[in-house]
Amino acid sequence: MKTPLVTTNIVSIYKNKLGDLLPLPAYMAKCTPDMHAAIFDIATDLAQAGGRLILSDLFRSYEMQAQSHSDYISGKKKAFSPAPGGSFHEAGRAFDLDLSAIKVSLADFWQIAAAHGVRPIIDKPVASKSEAWHFDCRGSHQIVYDYYQAGKGNNLKPYTAAAASGILAAGIRVDYFGANQAQAAIQSGLIRLGKTIGNIDGQIGHKTQTALTELGVTFDLLKVNDMLLQVENLLQQKFPKEFSVPMV
Ligand SMILES: [Zn+2]
Repeated sequence: MKTPLVTTNIVSIYKNKLGDLLPLPAYMAKCTPDMHAAIFDIATDLAQAGGRLILSDLFRSYEMQAQSHSDYISGKKKAFSPAPGGSFHEAGRAFDLDLSAIKVSLADFWQIAAAHGVRPIIDKPVASKSEAWHFDCRGSHQIVYDYYQAGKGNNLKPYTAAAASGILAAGIRVDYFGANQAQAAIQSGLIRLGKTIGNIDGQIGHKTQTALTELGVTFDLLKVNDMLLQVENLLQQKFPKEFSVPMV
């Protein structure tokens, strides 16, 4: 199966007329199951430390990411926002939080987040830095990051490749791969399963074919979606937390 996006009930920076904080709006309040668990666990740990996890952003649809990017280009929004296909927000694997509500130092928050598989995207815990509020739950897509970082793929930057992998896994379009969305999703899946297949580029060549055969996937270029389903089943076995939909 695809990586599901589940609904998360989390308090946000958005207020009603009385000034009460509202839950994150439904169109943003979606994330992967492992991110869902991490948000709950981080909020619990932070509450014990006297702070609150209050979000300003979580999931962004393709259209929302395109808007966010065009606002950055036009100068309406100061914080960098990549074009669709390059943000973990689009994979339901990133949140932005209200730093004034955490009531612990950013360095301490990093430790709380790290204990639940959530990491910052800046290199030092300086709260005044742009993007100090942004955190990723990369899950198995970290493997794609490391793969590109090690030079095994070179057509995308490591971060973009990992984000694209996360977006494809949720069954959401990444423009870069054109008509070959399923092929690219197969390739990202193979890398997460430990295979070396060159670039994620949507072009199924010999390396991809060999990797599929080694994993016992029936190779048939006319049945790309069947091959993807088999790869997704293997991913679900290897990374069950990324697929386990919580009981409501
Ligand atoms: Zn963000």
